[in-house]
Amino acid sequence: MFACVDLGGTTISAGLGDAAGRLAAQRTIDTESHRGPAGVLDRIAGLVESLGAQPEAVGIGVPGLIDFASGSTSFLPNFPTQWRGVAMRETLAPRLGCPVYLLNDARAATLGELRFGHGRSAPASSMVFFTLGTGIGGGIVIDGRLRMGPLGAAGETGHQTIDPNGPLCGCGNHGGLEAVASAPALTGEGVRLLRSGQAPRLYEITGGDAALVTPKTMAEAGDPAVREGIRRVARALGIAAANLVTSLHPDFVVFGGGMAALGDELLLTPVREEIRARVRMFPPDNVRVERSLLGDQAGLLGALALAAAKGIV
Ligand SMILES: [Zn+2]
Repeated sequence: MFACVDLGGTTISAGLGDAAGRLAAQRTIDTESHRGPAGVLDRIAGLVESLGAQPEAVGIGVPGLIDFASGSTSFLPNFPTQWRGVAMRETLAPRLGCPVYLLNDARAATLGELRFGHGRSAPASSMVFFTLGTGIGGGIVIDGRLRMGPLGAAGETGHQTIDPNGPLCGCGNHGGLEAVASAPALTGEGVRLLRSGQAPRLYEITGGDAALVTPKTMAEAGDPAVREGIRRVARALGIAAANLVTSLHPDFVVFGGGMAALGDELLLTPVREEIRARVRMFPPDNVRVERSLLGDQAGLLGALALAAAKGIV
């Protein structure tokens, strides 16, 4: 058995499973990131131990940049103190009694989709992956291998420039995809429409409470202005996907993360239309645009695949 961990800013999930992607046990606890790196690493170790079996190896999906050579974190933007130089592998491997492998969480989700999701139907496939949530993460698979790049940071599909004059992104670029098409960008537009009286149905559903404006309530509302806001976001995602289709001609473009729940009509159809309209150098007809088959388990299953592959992806 192998253990897998999905470390998030709010919760930590861990599981035990086999190399075929079958999870035999799974538990989730609060991260309690205010405890600092030592406290959180202790919670990760305790959670893995609580699953009740000695794993052969542990894979961990980490929300940020990792130094591969040392197995330490370089930058976790959503954690207090941002975890610069936290020796995760050196701390966890002796305590858990087995090798520990780290991977960025969005790359882990991509690996999960490759091994146990859509990639299973075509193992040597090429794939472009977007995780749509508070941020937009991603990963790129070329001929069955996850593209890591020298720093393990390749595949940041959510940080390509979509609008040169667009809003500032968390990474420092202007008009990156994340800045114009993440869940906060979409709900920001929803709140604006709610407050300016252009979304009566959304007002009814949320009782006028801006905190209840989410991609889900916006999709339910269906006010014309709200639908146009969602369409704009889907078009930006489509432009990003089209750029990658032109560059890589992948077999799959896959959307995961919470916002993928927007569904076919609001998300996938406009993305497919955008790809058809913008990819002109070859017919993109065989590029499949799909939602993740693994839903919110993609990251955890990717960490399982990482452990089973002894860190070689
Ligand atoms: Zn960015």
